[in-house]
Amino acid sequence: MADQRGLTTDRARHAVVIGGSVAGLLAAAVLAEHAERVTVVERDRFPEGPEARAGVPQGRHIHVLLEGGQKALEQLLPGLCDEMRAAGSPEVGMPGDMVQWQGGRWYRRTESTAVVFTGTRPLMEHAIRRRVLADSRIRTVGGTEAVGLAGDARRVRGVLLRERGTTHRNNPELLEADLVVDASGRGSRAPRWLAELGAEPPQEETIDTGLAYATRLYRDGSRGKVADALGYYVVPNPAQTYGAVVLPVEGDGLHLVTLSGLRADQPPTDNEAFEAFARKLPHPIVTEWLSAAEPRSSASAYRRTANVRRRYDRPGARPSGFLATGDALCTFNPIYGQGMSVAALSALALRDALADRRHPATTRRVQKALLAASNTAWDICAGADKSMPGATGNAVRFRAADRPASWYLRRVQAHAPGNPVVGAAFRAVLGLTAPVGALFAPRVLRAVLFGSVPAAPTEPPLGRERAADAEDAC
Ligand SMILES: Cc1cc2nc3c(=O)[nH]c(=O)nc-3n(C[C@H](O)[C@H](O)[C@H](O)COP(=O)(O)OP(=O)(O)OC[C@H]3O[C@@H](n4cnc5c(N)ncnc54)[C@H](O)[C@@H]3O)c2cc1C
Repeated sequence: MADQRGLTTDRARHAVVIGGSVAGLLAAAVLAEHAERVTVVERDRFPEGPEARAGVPQGRHIHVLLEGGQKALEQLLPGLCDEMRAAGSPEVGMPGDMVQWQGGRWYRRTESTAVVFTGTRPLMEHAIRRRVLADSRIRTVGGTEAVGLAGDARRVRGVLLRERGTTHRNNPELLEADLVVDASGRGSRAPRWLAELGAEPPQEETIDTGLAYATRLYRDGSRGKVADALGYYVVPNPAQTYGAVVLPVEGDGLHLVTLSGLRADQPPTDNEAFEAFARKLPHPIVTEWLSAAEPRSSASAYRRTANVRRRYDRPGARPSGFLATGDALCTFNPIYGQGMSVAALSALALRDALADRRHPATTRRVQKALLAASNTAWDICAGADKSMPGATGNAVRFRAADRPASWYLRRVQAHAPGNPVVGAAFRAVLGLTAPVGALFAPRVLRAVLFGSVPAAPTEPPLGRERAADAEDAC
């Protein structure tokens, strides 16, 4: 099956997915419809419940599921959002439920036009894992690491595996496969494995702002006294590089608090210093919330946040029968909360490409479809992160065409906090439910190009706007 004539010209006998996290599980669910057998190989042992695990160190940090991801997951695993609600994942409406600062302005808390799930990452991954692994066509091999590919520069024929914790580096076991999908995350070693087969590794595009996260679990003690809000969000920008997010997770009153800074001034994990770092934010509201809250964990750090895109879709001497998806293909600055949603959109793209009867599902065609599923997310990150001070990487360079786009985006950001129409369009793009082109819809374009920047609150709005107030102020 896995040759350049088409991945599905013959039915795939055996598809192997490397990595049993969000992207790998969703890819396996799609492949189960096309292959006779699907095996998911995972370095960690699969936990029974919603537990943090070593292979997903980012799992201790805030993970929001955007609306684009929710819609994609519902198509792949109908009823999943209800299952997450039943498991206790909170939902937060934007802008109504949030106190949000961006670019020197506070968002008006008009009626919400977008909702995100804010339950912990282990809860979301567990909901997905439970559903996907209930399919008897999918087998798992846990506690086992992929250490290379088998085959040659023309065709991949399997994966080389080693049981975790053993040292048999020289004699790994071969698991034969007609199709291998790399979903091993940001740290994927597939480029090296391809080079070992004599194939061309992909070019990598990188934009690194040096953003660092520190996150700690708290129980809310403010009882709504700081603000009548479900969460707080301070968005960094080139002039003010500190960020904060406070969001509820499952469990009575529990909230995750993430503070962020750039490489010159990273948030500390020492508990007292963590809270002191919040005083660098442009307003004391997060410090006020923290001073009334009870810490329930120590702080954890995360420092690898570069946007990296591996161009497996470009021409090159690469074997058929090998695909990459999820963070292994394209990974983002986490501040935009996109990775799990893109993993779900990529699984949908895989499903559509394999089901397309008009075009043969060649390796390259399917790989292009997988990358295309991440384009909006990449444009958002690249557009914003290129302007951050000290950003490094081979994709940071501004092209002439970037200048008008970046000028327009700055105006959108200035209008979004005070103008509900512009705000809704901006949120739809950031939530991956609309393409970037939605920012140029006639009503948005008129407001952004010809309207004066509307008034936005100068102090954090502590309550939601009533509908009548919102109309008066439009
Ligand atoms: C700090 C932080 C915050 C984030 N916040 C958000 C957010 O708010 N919203 C959002 O949608 N996304 C967020 N993300 C991104 C999100 O975590 C990922 O995009 C998402 O988990 C999809 O990743 P994945 O499945 O491709 O890879 P991962 O989740 O990284 O999983 C890779 C899997 O592969 C396994 N593996 C690795 N190597 C091997 C090997 N050789 N053999 C076998 N198994 C292997 C690992 O054990 C792991 O299970 C955040 C990321 C970070 C770093």
